[in-house]
Amino acid sequence: MNHDELAEWSKRAADWARNYHANLRDQPVRAQTTPGETAAKLPTAPPEGPEDMEQIFADFEAIVPGATTHWQHPRFFAYFPANAAPASILADQLCNAMAVQGMLWQTAPAATEIEGVMVNWMRDAFGLPPHFTGTIHDSATTATLSAVLTMRERALNWQGNERGLADLPRLRLYASAQTHSSIDKAAQIAGIGQQNLVKVPTDANNAMDAEALEAAITADKAAGFLPVGVIMCVGGTSIGAVDPVAECIKVAKTHDLFTHVDAAWAGAAMICPEHRALWDGIDGADSIVINPHKWLGVQFDCALQFLADATPQVKTLGLRPVFLETLEQDEVVNYNEWTIPMGRRFRALKLWFTIRAYGLEGLRTRIRNHIAWAGELAHEIEKLARFEITTPPMLSLFTFRLIGTDEKNEALLTRINDDGRIYLTQTRHNGQFVIRFQAGQFDCTRDDVMTVLTVLNDLS
Ligand SMILES: *Cc1c(COP(=O)(O)O)cnc(C)c1O
Repeated sequence: MNHDELAEWSKRAADWARNYHANLRDQPVRAQTTPGETAAKLPTAPPEGPEDMEQIFADFEAIVPGATTHWQHPRFFAYFPANAAPASILADQLCNAMAVQGMLWQTAPAATEIEGVMVNWMRDAFGLPPHFTGTIHDSATTATLSAVLTMRERALNWQGNERGLADLPRLRLYASAQTHSSIDKAAQIAGIGQQNLVKVPTDANNAMDAEALEAAITADKAAGFLPVGVIMCVGGTSIGAVDPVAECIKVAKTHDLFTHVDAAWAGAAMICPEHRALWDGIDGADSIVINPHKWLGVQFDCALQFLADATPQVKTLGLRPVFLETLEQDEVVNYNEWTIPMGRRFRALKLWFTIRAYGLEGLRTRIRNHIAWAGELAHEIEKLARFEITTPPMLSLFTFRLIGTDEKNEALLTRINDDGRIYLTQTRHNGQFVIRFQAGQFDCTRDDVMTVLTVLNDLS
Protein backbone atom coordinates (compact mmCIF):
# COMPACT_ATOMS: atom_id res chain seq x y z
CA MET A 1 0.00 0.00 0.00
CA ASN A 2 1.25 3.49 -0.79
CA HIS A 3 0.06 6.83 0.54
CA ASP A 4 -2.37 7.45 -2.35
CA GLU A 5 -4.03 4.14 -1.62
CA LEU A 6 -3.94 4.93 2.07
CA ALA A 7 -5.96 8.08 1.39
CA GLU A 8 -8.64 6.00 -0.38
CA TRP A 9 -8.71 3.36 2.32
CA SER A 10 -8.82 5.99 5.04
CA LYS A 11 -12.08 7.24 3.52
CA ARG A 12 -13.41 3.67 3.51
CA ALA A 13 -12.32 3.29 7.11
CA ALA A 14 -14.04 6.55 8.06
CA ASP A 15 -17.29 5.41 6.41
CA TRP A 16 -16.97 2.06 8.14
CA ALA A 17 -16.46 3.86 11.46
CA ARG A 18 -19.55 6.01 10.97
CA ASN A 19 -21.71 2.95 10.24
CA TYR A 20 -20.16 1.07 13.15
CA HIS A 21 -21.14 3.81 15.56
CA ALA A 22 -24.57 4.34 13.97
CA ASN A 23 -25.45 0.67 14.49
CA LEU A 24 -23.83 0.16 17.87
CA ARG A 25 -27.05 0.37 19.90
CA ASP A 26 -28.37 -2.69 18.04
CA GLN A 27 -25.32 -4.81 18.86
CA PRO A 28 -24.80 -6.89 22.01
CA VAL A 29 -22.42 -4.97 24.27
CA ARG A 30 -20.17 -7.80 25.44
CA ALA A 31 -18.53 -9.94 22.77
CA GLN A 32 -20.65 -13.02 22.17
CA THR A 33 -17.82 -15.41 21.38
CA THR A 34 -15.92 -18.25 23.01
CA PRO A 35 -12.16 -18.54 23.67
CA GLY A 36 -10.24 -19.69 20.59
CA GLU A 37 -13.01 -18.90 18.11
CA THR A 38 -11.22 -15.90 16.55
CA ALA A 39 -7.77 -17.47 16.46
CA ALA A 40 -9.23 -20.46 14.61
CA LYS A 41 -10.36 -18.15 11.79
CA LEU A 42 -6.79 -17.04 11.02
CA PRO A 43 -4.27 -19.06 9.03
CA THR A 44 -1.46 -20.43 11.18
CA ALA A 45 1.30 -18.95 8.99
CA PRO A 46 1.81 -15.40 7.65
CA PRO A 47 1.67 -14.81 3.87
CA GLU A 48 4.95 -14.75 1.93
CA GLY A 49 3.67 -12.30 -0.63
CA PRO A 50 1.42 -9.22 -0.42
CA GLU A 51 -2.31 -9.77 -0.16
CA ASP A 52 -5.06 -7.65 -1.63
CA MET A 53 -6.32 -4.91 0.71
CA GLU A 54 -9.93 -5.71 -0.35
CA GLN A 55 -9.46 -9.18 1.09
CA ILE A 56 -7.72 -7.93 4.23
CA PHE A 57 -10.52 -5.44 4.84
CA ALA A 58 -13.20 -8.05 4.17
CA ASP A 59 -11.59 -10.39 6.69
CA PHE A 60 -11.47 -7.58 9.24
CA GLU A 61 -15.21 -7.01 8.80
CA ALA A 62 -15.98 -10.71 8.96
CA ILE A 63 -13.83 -11.57 11.96
CA VAL A 64 -13.21 -8.60 14.25
CA PRO A 65 -16.34 -6.58 15.13
CA GLY A 66 -18.42 -9.65 15.98
CA ALA A 67 -15.78 -10.84 18.44
CA THR A 68 -15.31 -7.47 20.08
CA THR A 69 -16.69 -6.10 23.32
CA HIS A 70 -18.00 -2.69 22.37
CA TRP A 71 -16.50 -0.20 24.80
CA GLN A 72 -18.11 2.67 22.87
CA HIS A 73 -21.57 1.14 23.18
CA PRO A 74 -23.85 3.59 24.99
CA ARG A 75 -25.03 0.79 27.29
CA PHE A 76 -21.53 -0.21 28.39
CA PHE A 77 -21.88 -0.05 32.19
CA ALA A 78 -19.03 -2.42 33.10
CA TYR A 79 -15.61 -1.65 34.67
CA PHE A 80 -15.00 2.06 34.00
CA PRO A 81 -15.55 3.78 30.64
CA ALA A 82 -12.80 4.00 28.01
CA ASN A 83 -14.30 6.71 25.87
CA ALA A 84 -13.12 7.68 22.40
CA ALA A 85 -14.93 10.88 21.47
CA PRO A 86 -14.88 11.54 17.70
CA ALA A 87 -12.56 14.54 18.06
CA SER A 88 -10.02 12.44 19.92
CA ILE A 89 -10.17 9.72 17.25
CA LEU A 90 -9.45 12.37 14.63
CA ALA A 91 -6.47 13.66 16.59
CA ASP A 92 -5.05 10.15 16.88
CA GLN A 93 -5.47 9.69 13.11
CA LEU A 94 -3.29 12.75 12.59
CA CYS A 95 -0.75 11.41 15.10
CA ASN A 96 -0.74 8.12 13.21
CA ALA A 97 -0.08 9.97 9.96
CA MET A 98 2.94 11.79 11.35
CA ALA A 99 3.98 8.98 13.71
CA VAL A 100 5.87 11.40 15.88
CA GLN A 101 8.37 10.12 18.43
CA GLY A 102 8.11 12.44 21.40
CA MET A 103 11.05 11.41 23.55
CA LEU A 104 12.87 14.76 23.41
CA TRP A 105 11.88 18.34 22.75
CA GLN A 106 14.09 18.19 19.66
CA THR A 107 12.43 15.05 18.30
CA ALA A 108 8.99 16.61 18.71
CA PRO A 109 8.87 20.29 19.64
CA ALA A 110 5.12 20.65 19.01
CA ALA A 111 4.26 17.44 20.91
CA THR A 112 6.44 18.47 23.85
CA GLU A 113 5.12 22.01 24.10
CA ILE A 114 1.46 21.06 23.59
CA GLU A 115 1.89 18.42 26.31
CA GLY A 116 3.16 21.10 28.68
CA VAL A 117 0.25 23.39 27.90
CA MET A 118 -2.31 20.56 28.21
CA VAL A 119 -0.95 19.66 31.66
CA ASN A 120 -1.46 23.28 32.68
CA TRP A 121 -4.95 23.46 31.14
CA MET A 122 -6.04 20.30 32.92
CA ARG A 123 -4.42 21.30 36.22
CA ASP A 124 -6.51 24.48 36.15
CA ALA A 125 -9.61 22.60 34.95
CA PHE A 126 -9.35 20.25 37.94
CA GLY A 127 -8.89 23.19 40.31
CA LEU A 128 -5.32 22.21 41.25
CA PRO A 129 -2.96 24.98 42.36
CA PRO A 130 -0.42 26.41 39.88
CA HIS A 131 2.66 24.82 41.43
CA PHE A 132 1.75 21.47 39.81
CA THR A 133 3.49 20.46 36.60
CA GLY A 134 3.21 17.04 35.03
CA THR A 135 3.34 14.71 32.10
CA ILE A 136 1.21 12.25 30.13
CA HIS A 137 1.78 8.50 30.45
CA ASP A 138 0.17 5.61 28.62
CA SER A 139 -1.71 4.41 31.69
CA ALA A 140 -2.37 5.07 35.35
CA THR A 141 -0.45 1.87 36.05
CA THR A 142 2.70 3.44 34.58
CA ALA A 143 2.11 6.76 36.35
CA THR A 144 1.72 4.98 39.68
CA LEU A 145 4.81 2.86 39.06
CA SER A 146 6.74 6.07 38.29
CA ALA A 147 5.53 7.58 41.57
CA VAL A 148 6.45 4.44 43.55
CA LEU A 149 9.93 4.31 42.04
CA THR A 150 10.30 7.99 42.90
CA MET A 151 9.21 7.53 46.51
CA ARG A 152 11.58 4.58 46.84
CA GLU A 153 14.56 6.49 45.50
CA ARG A 154 13.75 9.63 47.46
CA ALA A 155 13.70 7.59 50.69
CA LEU A 156 16.99 5.91 49.71
CA ASN A 157 18.61 9.16 48.63
CA TRP A 158 18.89 7.64 45.11
CA GLN A 159 21.08 4.79 46.33
CA GLY A 160 18.68 2.13 45.02
CA ASN A 161 19.30 3.29 41.46
CA GLU A 162 23.03 3.33 42.20
CA ARG A 163 23.71 0.21 44.25
CA GLY A 164 20.60 -1.95 43.90
CA LEU A 165 18.30 -2.99 46.72
CA ALA A 166 20.44 -5.54 48.57
CA ASP A 167 21.46 -4.89 52.22
CA LEU A 168 18.78 -2.26 52.76
CA PRO A 169 16.18 -2.05 55.50
CA ARG A 170 12.75 -3.35 54.52
CA LEU A 171 11.01 -0.69 52.46
CA ARG A 172 7.38 -0.07 53.37
CA LEU A 173 4.56 1.39 51.28
CA TYR A 174 1.07 2.23 52.61
CA ALA A 175 -2.33 2.07 50.92
CA SER A 176 -5.79 0.78 51.78
CA ALA A 177 -7.20 -2.49 50.47
CA GLN A 178 -9.55 -0.39 48.31
CA THR A 179 -6.76 0.83 46.03
CA HIS A 180 -6.35 -0.56 42.54
CA SER A 181 -4.21 -3.64 41.79
CA SER A 182 -1.79 -1.34 39.94
CA ILE A 183 -0.46 -0.35 43.38
CA ASP A 184 0.25 -4.01 44.17
CA LYS A 185 1.94 -4.34 40.80
CA ALA A 186 4.07 -1.23 41.43
CA ALA A 187 5.16 -2.60 44.83
CA GLN A 188 6.19 -5.83 43.11
CA ILE A 189 8.03 -4.24 40.19
CA ALA A 190 9.76 -1.60 42.34
CA GLY A 191 11.37 -4.29 44.49
CA ILE A 192 9.38 -3.29 47.56
CA GLY A 193 7.43 -6.53 47.57
CA GLN A 194 3.83 -7.40 48.16
CA GLN A 195 4.52 -8.20 51.83
CA ASN A 196 5.77 -4.66 52.37
CA LEU A 197 2.72 -3.02 50.86
CA VAL A 198 0.87 -2.35 54.11
CA LYS A 199 -2.89 -2.44 53.62
CA VAL A 200 -4.00 0.15 56.15
CA PRO A 201 -7.38 -0.59 57.79
CA THR A 202 -10.42 1.34 56.57
CA ASP A 203 -13.39 2.81 58.42
CA ALA A 204 -17.10 2.11 57.94
CA ASN A 205 -17.03 4.18 54.72
CA ASN A 206 -14.17 2.09 53.26
CA ALA A 207 -11.86 5.09 53.68
CA MET A 208 -8.31 4.78 54.97
CA ASP A 209 -8.16 5.31 58.72
CA ALA A 210 -5.55 8.06 59.18
CA GLU A 211 -4.92 7.05 62.79
CA ALA A 212 -4.26 3.48 61.71
CA LEU A 213 -1.89 4.86 59.05
CA GLU A 214 0.01 6.79 61.73
CA ALA A 215 0.16 3.69 63.93
CA ALA A 216 1.42 1.48 61.10
CA ILE A 217 4.19 3.92 60.14
CA THR A 218 5.29 4.37 63.75
CA ALA A 219 5.36 0.61 64.39
CA ASP A 220 7.34 0.02 61.18
CA LYS A 221 9.93 2.64 62.09
CA ALA A 222 10.30 1.10 65.56
CA ALA A 223 10.89 -2.26 63.86
CA GLY A 224 13.71 -0.77 61.80
CA PHE A 225 11.79 -0.68 58.52
CA LEU A 226 12.01 2.22 56.06
CA PRO A 227 8.65 3.77 55.09
CA VAL A 228 8.80 5.31 51.59
CA GLY A 229 5.37 6.66 50.81
CA VAL A 230 1.59 6.64 51.06
CA ILE A 231 -0.87 6.03 48.22
CA MET A 232 -4.44 7.22 48.55
CA CYS A 233 -7.41 6.52 46.32
CA VAL A 234 -10.11 8.96 45.33
CA GLY A 235 -12.65 6.69 43.67
CA GLY A 236 -11.39 3.14 44.15
CA THR A 237 -12.16 0.77 41.31
CA SER A 238 -14.28 -1.71 43.23
CA ILE A 239 -16.89 0.49 44.89
CA GLY A 240 -15.48 4.02 44.53
CA ALA A 241 -13.83 4.29 47.97
CA VAL A 242 -12.39 7.70 48.86
CA ASP A 243 -9.54 8.10 51.33
CA PRO A 244 -9.41 11.24 53.53
CA VAL A 245 -6.70 12.95 51.51
CA ALA A 246 -6.02 15.88 53.87
CA GLU A 247 -5.64 13.69 56.96
CA CYS A 248 -3.53 11.03 55.28
CA ILE A 249 -1.23 13.65 53.72
CA LYS A 250 -0.83 15.26 57.13
CA VAL A 251 0.31 11.94 58.61
CA ALA A 252 2.63 11.30 55.66
CA LYS A 253 4.20 14.74 55.96
CA THR A 254 4.98 14.36 59.67
CA HIS A 255 7.09 11.34 58.62
CA ASP A 256 8.47 13.07 55.50
CA LEU A 257 6.86 10.50 53.19
CA PHE A 258 6.04 11.02 49.49
CA THR A 259 2.32 10.93 48.67
CA HIS A 260 0.57 9.76 45.51
CA VAL A 261 -3.19 10.02 44.88
CA ASP A 262 -4.85 7.57 42.48
CA ALA A 263 -7.86 9.39 41.04
CA ALA A 264 -7.61 7.59 37.70
CA TRP A 265 -11.38 7.43 37.24
CA ALA A 266 -12.98 9.91 39.68
CA GLY A 267 -10.46 12.66 38.98
CA ALA A 268 -12.37 13.47 35.78
CA ALA A 269 -15.31 14.67 37.90
CA MET A 270 -13.09 17.35 39.45
CA ILE A 271 -13.75 19.52 36.40
CA CYS A 272 -17.06 20.06 38.24
CA PRO A 273 -16.28 22.28 41.24
CA GLU A 274 -19.13 20.75 43.26
CA HIS A 275 -17.20 17.45 43.57
CA ARG A 276 -13.87 18.86 44.73
CA ALA A 277 -14.71 18.38 48.40
CA LEU A 278 -14.09 14.68 47.68
CA TRP A 279 -10.36 15.30 47.48
CA ASP A 280 -10.06 18.07 50.02
CA GLY A 281 -6.38 18.52 50.84
CA ILE A 282 -5.19 17.50 47.36
CA ASP A 283 -3.07 20.68 47.18
CA GLY A 284 -0.57 18.96 49.49
CA ALA A 285 -0.08 15.82 47.34
CA ASP A 286 3.29 15.12 45.72
CA SER A 287 1.81 13.17 42.79
CA ILE A 288 -1.69 12.66 41.34
CA VAL A 289 -2.89 10.48 38.46
CA ILE A 290 -6.07 11.09 36.47
CA ASN A 291 -7.01 9.24 33.27
CA PRO A 292 -8.60 11.48 30.62
CA HIS A 293 -8.94 8.18 28.72
CA LYS A 294 -11.73 7.13 31.03
CA TRP A 295 -14.48 9.62 31.68
CA LEU A 296 -13.23 12.69 29.75
CA GLY A 297 -13.68 11.27 26.26
CA VAL A 298 -10.02 11.10 25.25
CA GLN A 299 -9.18 7.97 23.29
CA PHE A 300 -6.97 5.48 25.18
CA ASP A 301 -4.10 6.03 25.98
CA CYS A 302 -3.87 9.22 28.00
CA ALA A 303 -2.99 9.22 31.72
CA LEU A 304 -2.11 12.56 33.30
CA GLN A 305 0.30 12.65 36.20
CA PHE A 306 0.59 15.89 38.15
CA LEU A 307 3.71 16.51 40.22
CA ALA A 308 4.15 19.13 42.95
CA ASP A 309 7.87 19.06 42.14
CA ALA A 310 9.12 17.15 39.13
CA THR A 311 12.72 17.07 40.35
CA PRO A 312 12.61 13.82 42.39
CA GLN A 313 10.89 11.92 39.56
CA VAL A 314 13.28 13.24 36.91
CA LYS A 315 16.18 12.36 39.19
CA THR A 316 14.73 8.84 39.49
CA LEU A 317 13.75 8.12 35.87
CA GLY A 318 15.87 10.52 33.87
CA LEU A 319 19.00 9.22 32.23
CA ARG A 320 20.85 11.31 29.71
CA PRO A 321 23.25 9.25 27.66
CA VAL A 322 25.21 11.23 25.09
CA PHE A 323 22.97 10.11 22.24
CA LEU A 324 19.96 11.70 23.98
CA GLU A 325 21.64 15.01 24.70
CA THR A 326 20.09 18.05 23.07
CA LEU A 327 23.00 20.22 22.13
CA GLU A 328 22.87 23.86 23.19
CA GLN A 329 19.31 23.60 24.48
CA ASP A 330 19.55 23.04 28.20
CA GLU A 331 16.35 24.90 28.94
CA VAL A 332 13.98 22.55 27.08
CA VAL A 333 11.87 19.81 28.66
CA ASN A 334 12.62 16.26 27.51
CA TYR A 335 9.66 14.22 28.72
CA ASN A 336 11.40 10.85 28.36
CA GLU A 337 13.21 11.87 31.56
CA TRP A 338 9.88 12.07 33.40
CA THR A 339 8.60 8.65 32.34
CA ILE A 340 9.67 5.01 32.11
CA PRO A 341 9.79 4.34 28.34
CA MET A 342 12.13 6.35 26.17
CA GLY A 343 9.78 6.49 23.18
CA ARG A 344 6.55 8.39 23.60
CA ARG A 345 3.44 8.86 21.50
CA PHE A 346 2.03 12.34 20.89
CA ARG A 347 -0.80 11.89 23.39
CA ALA A 348 -1.39 15.56 24.08
CA LEU A 349 -2.95 16.15 20.65
CA LYS A 350 -6.09 14.13 21.40
CA LEU A 351 -6.48 15.92 24.71
CA TRP A 352 -6.18 19.28 22.93
CA PHE A 353 -8.75 18.30 20.28
CA THR A 354 -11.18 16.82 22.79
CA ILE A 355 -11.16 19.72 25.23
CA ARG A 356 -11.61 22.21 22.39
CA ALA A 357 -14.26 20.27 20.47
CA TYR A 358 -16.59 19.78 23.45
CA GLY A 359 -15.40 22.50 25.83
CA LEU A 360 -15.07 21.91 29.55
CA GLU A 361 -18.75 22.77 29.91
CA GLY A 362 -19.73 20.06 27.42
CA LEU A 363 -17.71 17.53 29.39
CA ARG A 364 -19.16 18.74 32.70
CA THR A 365 -22.69 18.31 31.37
CA ARG A 366 -21.97 14.69 30.44
CA ILE A 367 -20.46 13.92 33.84
CA ARG A 368 -23.34 15.62 35.67
CA ASN A 369 -25.88 13.69 33.60
CA HIS A 370 -24.17 10.37 34.26
CA ILE A 371 -24.11 11.04 37.98
CA ALA A 372 -27.77 12.11 38.04
CA TRP A 373 -28.93 9.10 35.98
CA ALA A 374 -26.91 6.64 38.09
CA GLY A 375 -28.58 8.09 41.17
CA GLU A 376 -32.01 7.73 39.59
CA LEU A 377 -31.32 4.14 38.59
CA ALA A 378 -30.08 3.20 42.08
CA HIS A 379 -33.26 4.69 43.50
CA GLU A 380 -35.43 2.61 41.13
CA ILE A 381 -33.51 -0.62 41.87
CA GLU A 382 -33.92 0.03 45.58
CA LYS A 383 -37.69 0.02 45.06
CA LEU A 384 -37.59 -3.54 43.67
CA ALA A 385 -38.13 -5.75 46.72
CA ARG A 386 -35.92 -8.58 45.50
CA PHE A 387 -32.82 -6.34 45.09
CA GLU A 388 -30.67 -4.43 47.55
CA ILE A 389 -28.21 -1.59 46.99
CA THR A 390 -24.95 -2.80 48.53
CA THR A 391 -22.91 0.40 48.12
CA PRO A 392 -24.57 3.76 47.45
CA PRO A 393 -23.75 5.87 44.39
CA MET A 394 -20.28 7.41 44.52
CA LEU A 395 -20.43 9.79 41.54
CA SER A 396 -21.83 7.43 38.85
CA LEU A 397 -20.82 4.09 40.45
CA PHE A 398 -22.88 1.87 42.73
CA THR A 399 -23.28 -1.83 43.49
CA PHE A 400 -26.35 -3.96 44.10
CA ARG A 401 -27.38 -7.59 44.37
CA LEU A 402 -30.34 -9.88 44.30
CA ILE A 403 -31.24 -10.78 47.85
CA GLY A 404 -30.05 -14.38 48.07
CA THR A 405 -26.95 -16.42 47.39
CA ASP A 406 -23.82 -15.46 45.45
CA GLU A 407 -24.67 -18.23 42.97
CA LYS A 408 -28.04 -16.62 42.18
CA ASN A 409 -26.27 -13.32 41.53
CA GLU A 410 -23.56 -14.86 39.37
CA ALA A 411 -26.21 -16.64 37.32
CA LEU A 412 -28.17 -13.39 36.90
CA LEU A 413 -25.06 -11.51 35.74
CA THR A 414 -24.31 -14.21 33.17
CA ARG A 415 -27.89 -14.02 31.87
CA ILE A 416 -27.63 -10.22 31.64
CA ASN A 417 -24.39 -10.24 29.66
CA ASP A 418 -25.47 -13.09 27.40
CA ASP A 419 -28.64 -11.11 26.67
CA GLY A 420 -26.38 -8.29 25.44
CA ARG A 421 -28.62 -5.23 25.84
CA ILE A 422 -26.39 -3.99 28.66
CA TYR A 423 -23.00 -4.97 30.07
CA LEU A 424 -22.32 -5.10 33.82
CA THR A 425 -19.45 -6.58 35.83
CA GLN A 426 -19.01 -7.75 39.40
CA THR A 427 -16.88 -7.17 42.47
CA ARG A 428 -16.75 -8.51 46.03
CA HIS A 429 -17.84 -6.33 48.89
CA ASN A 430 -17.99 -7.38 52.56
CA GLY A 431 -17.38 -10.94 51.44
CA GLN A 432 -20.30 -10.95 49.01
CA PHE A 433 -20.55 -11.11 45.22
CA VAL A 434 -22.12 -7.81 44.13
CA ILE A 435 -23.04 -6.43 40.71
CA ARG A 436 -21.33 -3.19 39.70
CA PHE A 437 -22.94 -0.41 37.68
CA GLN A 438 -21.28 2.75 36.39
CA ALA A 439 -22.46 5.25 33.80
CA GLY A 440 -19.83 7.13 31.85
CA GLN A 441 -20.02 6.34 28.15
CA PHE A 442 -19.79 9.51 26.08
CA ASP A 443 -23.04 9.00 24.09
CA CYS A 444 -25.08 7.34 26.81
CA THR A 445 -28.57 8.74 27.40
CA ARG A 446 -31.00 8.54 30.30
CA ASP A 447 -32.95 5.91 28.32
CA ASP A 448 -29.80 3.82 27.99
CA VAL A 449 -29.30 3.93 31.76
CA MET A 450 -32.94 3.09 32.47
CA THR A 451 -32.69 0.06 30.16
CA VAL A 452 -30.89 -1.58 33.09
CA LEU A 453 -34.18 -1.57 34.99
CA THR A 454 -36.01 -3.18 32.06
CA VAL A 455 -33.33 -5.86 31.75
CA LEU A 456 -33.37 -6.58 35.49
CA ASN A 457 -37.15 -6.91 35.38
CA ASP A 458 -36.99 -9.21 32.35
CA LEU A 459 -34.23 -11.48 33.59
CA SER A 460 -34.64 -11.76 37.38
C1 LIG B 1 -8.59 2.31 35.76
C2 LIG B 1 -7.87 2.52 37.02
C3 LIG B 1 -6.50 2.24 37.13
C4 LIG B 1 -5.71 1.65 36.00
O1 LIG B 1 -5.71 2.45 34.88
P1 LIG B 1 -4.83 2.12 33.58
O2 LIG B 1 -4.72 3.45 32.91
O3 LIG B 1 -5.59 1.13 32.79
O4 LIG B 1 -3.52 1.58 34.05
C5 LIG B 1 -5.89 2.53 38.33
N1 LIG B 1 -6.57 3.04 39.36
C6 LIG B 1 -7.88 3.32 39.30
C7 LIG B 1 -8.60 3.90 40.48
C8 LIG B 1 -8.57 3.07 38.12
O5 LIG B 1 -9.88 3.35 38.05
